[in-house]
Amino acid sequence: MKKKVMVVDDSRMMDLQIRKLLEGTEFEVAAYCENGEEAIARYEEVRPDVVTMDIIMPGIDGMEAAQVLLYEHDEARIVMVTSLGCDDVIQELYGIGAQAVLFKPLTREGLLGALKKALA
Ligand SMILES: [Mg+2]
Repeated sequence: MKKKVMVVDDSRMMDLQIRKLLEGTEFEVAAYCENGEEAIARYEEVRPDVVTMDIIMPGIDGMEAAQVLLYEHDEARIVMVTSLGCDDVIQELYGIGAQAVLFKPLTREGLLGALKKALA
């Protein structure tokens, strides 16, 4: 059975891109959420093995949504997706309890590496 990924991003393009990059791998996109509220509301129903979380989104942003998911679900595994690679940001992302950080633009290698790291 493939591992279930829940993509959270206000851009539908990210969902399509991740679906494509995961073709033929051990992972599949099980759900797409366009904002933090939806991710929090649907986590229990989707029960993903891992979540990819965009940071800048309208409403509850990715930092806050990740913190809520990690608080509510001990088993949550979260990959924070960012275009900002500076040390301060990376430290902050790990500081909230995320298991991996992934940088845009995405590559298949980077995506798979981050998903596996989150599940390790
Ligand atoms: Mg965004």
